[in-house]
This record gives sequence, structure tokens and C-alpha cells, in this order.
Amino acid sequence: MPATPAWPPKSAPRLFVEQELSANAAVQVEGNQAHYLAKVMRVSPGDAVILCDDITGEWAAEVVEAGKRHVALQPKQHLRPREPVPDFWLCPALLKKDRFDLVLEKATELGAARIAPIVTRRCVADKLNADRADMIITEAAEQCARTALPEIAPVAKLDALLRDWPQERHLFFADEEGGEPAADAFCYAEGPAALLVGPEGGFDDTERAAIRAHPASVAISLGPRILRGETAAIAGMAVWMAEAGDWLDED
Ligand code: SAH
Repeated sequence: MPATPAWPPKSAPRLFVEQELSANAAVQVEGNQAHYLAKVMRVSPGDAVILCDDITGEWAAEVVEAGKRHVALQPKQHLRPREPVPDFWLCPALLKKDRFDLVLEKATELGAARIAPIVTRRCVADKLNADRADMIITEAAEQCARTALPEIAPVAKLDALLRDWPQERHLFFADEEGGEPAADAFCYAEGPAALLVGPEGGFDDTERAAIRAHPASVAISLGPRILRGETAAIAGMAVWMAEAGDWLDED
């Protein structure tokens, strides 16, 4: 007796949608998302699509109608609730566009709960295109099968970030001038955490002193070489996820 094929198939496309999902309401997808489903993934009625709403979690939906600019889907099966992600914030200084795009994408894949961009004296870029950032994060979440989107905070000045810092959260400061080895610092510090990473030109002396003077800050080293900001953000997150995040065995 041949096995019944799994439904939804693992190859089913994934999409975040604006509306809250339920089995009682059809979902109408328009524009680029419809184009992606109809023309790129070439879905047709009866096909499965995985939908997420960043509220109820992940649903298997069935294509009801598939047009070039409009696709109708009916959620059928609730697959997973919105997942808990480690309580980790990445606070990266703005970088040149392509490099910051990489930070947004990798922070999403690596499981950041929140991305809080900062602007510092030596930042080359001083603003962030919020719509573009949302698109990058959403596409990365779809690709890595997250059911929870990372929150992206408005760009903040470093002094405001430090002033308003929540006292219970460790502020790990990636300092190329030296600090505790990252793996040690992350392994021994329980609880909510954040990683602060500087821009292409680094923090200036005043900024570095202000960060180090903050009661929640812990200067950490990511090794003996000078990493680019995007490398430091990605490497630092990976070490944190391995030491304190969700790469640990469940039990
Ligand atoms: N001051 C550097 C440029 C900054 S590197 C230079 O002389 O060229 C960009 C950012 O990456 C730094 O601000 C720091 O947050 C982080 N970083 C780079 N290398 C690091 C290391 N070895 N350890 C910890 N953080 C590092």
C-alpha cells in the first residue's frame, strides 16, 4: 500500500500575511505576493501554501484561486503556534546599505527577537528604509521557516539607547579593543541579552567610555582580528545562540 504523501508537502511555499489567520476566513493575496505564488511558484487550485501571520503561528492553506495578481487561499490546518525565540536583541550601528541588509537577514535567520539599529558619530549611513528592512526580514523569516518575525525598532541614537536601557538585560558590547572572550561571557550570563556592534569606523572614545560606564554593559571580544561590523554582528550572534540561545539541546 503506497504511503499517503505528507500534506502539506515540505516544498510548499511559505508566506507571511497581514491578516490574522483562522480556519473560518479565506485569505486574499495580491500584488508581489500573488505574483510570487502564481508566476514563480506556479501554484494552482488545490496546492498547499504555508501561511504565517506573526500572531497565531503557521497554517497549511489550500489554494482556491490562482491569478497573476490575486490568489485566494483557505487555511485548513493549524501547524505550529507562533514560536518563542530567545530573548536576544541585536543593536547594530547602521552600516552601508548592502552590509546592513546582510545584518538584517542574518539576524533574522539566527533567531533575534528584536533588532534595534543605532546611529553613532562614525556611522556612514544615518537612516534606515523601514519598508525595505521589513521586506528583508520577512523574506528571511519565510526562507528560514520562522513563525515569529523579529521586531525592528526605529533607529536610535546611542545615548538614547543607553539612557533607556532596560536594567535586567545584559548589554554585551562587542569591543575590538578587548573584553571578555564572547563564549565565556555569554555562557555565564543568564537572562535577556543584547549585542551592541559598532559601525565601519568603530565607536569613538567618548562613545566607548559611555558604553563601558553603563551598569548593564559587558565588553566582549570576538577574537584578535578586527572584524567588519556585519561580521561581528553575525559571529557574535552565532556564539550567543550556541552558548545561551536556542542551539542548546532541549532537554
Ligand atoms: N575600530 C575598527 C573598526 C570597527 S570594526 C578599525 O580599527 O577598523 C566594527 C565593529 O565590529 C566594532 O565597532 C566592534 O563593535 C566590532 N568588532 C570588530 N572586531 C571585533 C573584535 N575582534 N572583538 C569584538 N568586537 C569587534
